Amino acid sequence: MTQSVLVLGGGIIGLSCAFEAARRGFKVTLAEPGKLGGQASGAAAGMLAPFTENGEQPDSFFRLCLSSLKLYPEWVRAVEECSGLAVEWEQSGSLNVFQHEADVLPAEGRMRWQNDWGARAELVDPAALRKLEPGLSHEAAGAVFIPEESHVYAPKLVDALAAACRRLGVTILEHAGEIGAINVGLANPIRGDRVVICSGAWTTSYEDILGISIPIHPIRGQICSFDSPEGILRHMVFSSQAYWVGKRNGRIVCGASEDVAGYETAVTDKGIGRLTRATDRWLPRLQGIKPAHSWAGLRPATRDGLPLIGPITRDGEWIMAAGHYRNGILLSPVTAHLVADMLEGSLDAKRQAAVAPFAPGRFTSR
Ligand SMILES: Cc1cc2nc3c(=O)[nH]c(=O)nc-3n(C[C@H](O)[C@H](O)[C@H](O)COP(=O)(O)OP(=O)(O)OC[C@H]3O[C@@H](n4cnc5c(N)ncnc54)[C@H](O)[C@@H]3O)c2cc1C
Repeated sequence: MTQSVLVLGGGIIGLSCAFEAARRGFKVTLAEPGKLGGQASGAAAGMLAPFTENGEQPDSFFRLCLSSLKLYPEWVRAVEECSGLAVEWEQSGSLNVFQHEADVLPAEGRMRWQNDWGARAELVDPAALRKLEPGLSHEAAGAVFIPEESHVYAPKLVDALAAACRRLGVTILEHAGEIGAINVGLANPIRGDRVVICSGAWTTSYEDILGISIPIHPIRGQICSFDSPEGILRHMVFSSQAYWVGKRNGRIVCGASEDVAGYETAVTDKGIGRLTRATDRWLPRLQGIKPAHSWAGLRPATRDGLPLIGPITRDGEWIMAAGHYRNGILLSPVTAHLVADMLEGSLDAKRQAAVAPFAPGRFTSR
């Protein structure tokens, strides 16, 4: 008999899990209290940058991020084919710029281990950098170019996943209102044989129902975009103060703050001012130009910075996929594959070991 799966949360993680579960033949319902992608996922810059994000060592988190990047070509193909919508996946590569000669040595150390993992990273001197990225300030003492990194337009990926889910017969309950102890598993149609919690920064609302500790908290990310009809950026650019990503609509997205503000999603002058000053400095052609748009989202952060992916009840009926913090867009395909394997009971020993560090049970029960 076809098992039914209830996915709680309609951000990138919930939609990806719903899509993959539906592709594998489950009967899926997704419940979202607000708008699909209306929280962190719709706010994200869409960077798929496992090497830039993980500078220290090839640990289990880096390997998870890298395995997800490798899934992206097939993932994008499947989502676009099923939905008929483009997600604007750009294989732009990235430039990590630095200002001082002293930064070269640590950069070389990073490149050594990252190239063993397929980054194909190269050190770029100032003259070569000017050719690669003419719009960048001449202040740069060099950069590390990583051709393997790419980006998507996160709101479009959300829309395409939602359309693909609908095409596959997923029942989507958008604007479902408050979801919690009262209606999960009891009221029709919000129920399923199996439940996958993908509620981002709001996952703690399930602590009481499940009787477990879920150490997730919101970290606000303030972000803005500049109109740039000339399209002055070819690559994603990272500096120590901000990053910039050029989108097909001629906008340059610049992010992002990391601040503790509870569930507040307003932007502040201080948060956006820091990004504007960094833009003035690194992209001279945008000097003095105010951001056309600014917004903020709540990253779901965990106590140890790692996501929570795995069963949360002994029988495996309830699975959690949350706490993806800064990398939820990057990690969405691998999370969806792992969750679908868990639903099917087809997770092999190697993948079980790979996902073990992210088991939600690593935090003590309440
Ligand atoms: C400014 C910014 C820039 C970012 N840039 C990047 C980037 O470049 N690359 C990258 O990989 N990541 C990036 N991220 C991180 C990424 O956005 C997140 O990791 C990712 O969106 C998390 O997805 P999610 O589906 O878990 O959470 P969300 O998108 O927040 O979705 C959770 C959903 O759960 C719903 N919900 C709330 N309460 C309940 C409930 N009780 N039951 C069910 N559902 C509920 C919410 O309404 C919400 O829609 C960025 C984040 C921010 C804020």
